[in-house]
Amino acid sequence: MSEPLVRVRNLTRRFGLLNAVRGISFDIYPGQVVGFIGANGAGKTTTMRMMATLEVPTSGSISIGGRDVINFPNEVRRLVGWMPDAYGTYENMTVLEYLDFYARAFGFRCAERRERIGEVMEFANLTELAARPMNRLSKGMAQRLCLGRTLLHDPPFLILDEPAAGLDPQARIEFKHLVRLLAEEGKTLFISSHILSELGEMCDTMLFIDAGRIVHYGSAESLRAGNTAGPVLEVRVAGEPEALLQWAAMSPGVTLVEATRQGARLRVEKDDPETLAALLHKMIHDGLAVTEFHKEERRLEDAFVDLLHKVGGHGPR
Ligand code: ATP
Repeated sequence: MSEPLVRVRNLTRRFGLLNAVRGISFDIYPGQVVGFIGANGAGKTTTMRMMATLEVPTSGSISIGGRDVINFPNEVRRLVGWMPDAYGTYENMTVLEYLDFYARAFGFRCAERRERIGEVMEFANLTELAARPMNRLSKGMAQRLCLGRTLLHDPPFLILDEPAAGLDPQARIEFKHLVRLLAEEGKTLFISSHILSELGEMCDTMLFIDAGRIVHYGSAESLRAGNTAGPVLEVRVAGEPEALLQWAAMSPGVTLVEATRQGARLRVEKDDPETLAALLHKMIHDGLAVTEFHKEERRLEDAFVDLLHKVGGHGPR
């Protein structure tokens, strides 16, 4: 594997007596799309702000592209696009003027500036909104504008703080699409949310933080698959489900999770195809009229709750 783009080591941040971030360490590799999940107040924004050179760590270190954020903040800022969870709107400024203002601040001049703004507006679907005042944008449009601003200097690493918060379903789909395009371009993304399902489909890796500590870091896939308990099967039968419930009670290795209107959710001990096939065969052999039999995909939310139970954490609030 290549060198990590981001290295965070034993990072802490105190505010007076409050330990907002308590000694966290993790790496992010080029091209990864990492979801940063935690309840309100878990320490996400504080961590991200330190990575974006906007907050000074109490102790520990962060390097991005091999550069320490404290000693080389300017070099790091060239590599980082920071999209905050809240940003100011200027009443009489249009979309184009806003991007132009930031492009000037980034040092783009003349034709180069116009070209770059044009590219960003096209990417973030803002071209038709160029003349619209900022305070007349929908939440989704405003998020795209803020993302556009973040992309102006074409940074390889993007830190997006709660970008999907408050978006309606359509705007969320559009935003997800932009994230996918950025990932395809090879950008590395670090995206926070306190709502797991907002990030589930966007991210390949999940980093969970609870009360300032990392409680899990792994692929979204492995989390869904889980490794603590056997799979849950959703089974439906024709006629009364009572027969299925009785069958489950008598069958070794099968535990009733819950009865459903047309059947039951059953936990089984093993996850191999032979065991599942033998189980289906036995159900039919024992006279159950099975109409549906499938393994449930473990929901990311369940995985998170399991993790927090293990570490005695606070969970989503
Ligand atoms: P949210 O989803 O609500 O933004 P978060 O996970 O981003 O939550 P942080 O904003 O990092 O959490 O806050 C972590 C803790 O640090 C909270 O208890 C917060 O009140 C506290 N905190 C953050 N910034 C400051 C500050 N400048 N001064 C004092 N306390 C702060």
